[in-house]
Amino acid sequence: MGHAFLLHGPAGIGKKRLAFALARMLLCPDRGGCGHCPTCLRVDRQTHADFHVVEREKQTRGLKIEQIRELQEQISLRPMEGQNKVCILADCQSLGEEAANALLKTLEEPPPRTFFFLLTEICDALPDTIRSRCQEIRVPAWTTRDVAAALRRSAPDLPQDRADFLARLAEGSLGRAEEMHRSEVLQQAAWLLGKLETLTPANELQLAGEIHASVRQTQGNLEAQRDEFRRCLSLLNTFWRDMIYRSLGLPPDRWFHTDARSLQFYETRGLTLSQAIAAIELSFQAEAWVLANANVHLVIENYVVGLCRLWHGRPDGEGPRVSPSSAG
Ligand SMILES: [Zn+2]
Repeated sequence: MGHAFLLHGPAGIGKKRLAFALARMLLCPDRGGCGHCPTCLRVDRQTHADFHVVEREKQTRGLKIEQIRELQEQISLRPMEGQNKVCILADCQSLGEEAANALLKTLEEPPPRTFFFLLTEICDALPDTIRSRCQEIRVPAWTTRDVAAALRRSAPDLPQDRADFLARLAEGSLGRAEEMHRSEVLQQAAWLLGKLETLTPANELQLAGEIHASVRQTQGNLEAQRDEFRRCLSLLNTFWRDMIYRSLGLPPDRWFHTDARSLQFYETRGLTLSQAIAAIELSFQAEAWVLANANVHLVIENYVVGLCRLWHGRPDGEGPRVSPSSAG
């Protein structure tokens, strides 16, 4: 067995869980990592003296040189409890140059019986010098069905169609699906659908104001509001994508929303193929403007007015317009 491994794959697919399982294997006196002995439990609680986890601190961009130095000190000692020492380095996609150089030294001359698991979303984000010292292991994304099944194991009250929706939205990442479940993305989608159901030229600005108010409720600064609006956009896109899939005759197991209310909405207010594509283009445009620091309220107004125009065929040239230059 080598001493350094690079586990890579998208966020939330279980790289860290896998690394913890491997750490238990290497430290558990039973070998194989039984998962319930005092040693395994101390690994899980991160209180094992020969087990070290280095993670990006909140509000920082990547692992810091000080963290790597601290790790180097810790692993320079002989194993305290057993024979092996295990280090997990999460978030290696954002390793600073200094930290990378320090880590490289450690990987080149590792202390005896010390194993390293580096986790990264993208391999290319790491210097070749580090990659060449590691055995690369791709952690595969989950299937939609497996994500939905795992979600329902942890939340048995979650109806199957809602679990399926979260799984499709999470694109193979159980961590993301769990996060969306906790953050009540389903309620948010239903709320947005309610707004779309009532959208007319008479209430479009009021409705844009309500969406803006909900985005502003997010705890946090303007940056958090931008993120929140982008999340709204990706939810809205699930409706447009469904309309496209329906127009193309794709079966319902490919749709995001198959609950009775959404189906009713598609029947009564569905867009044609070209309108649904235009709606997605509106989303892309809105996202680009938000990323370019345009005023969030104006972008939302422009988006809602654009949608209303798709539905009610109002001529171009009316309603508020924004461009990336209207910053604020
Ligand atoms: Zn054990």
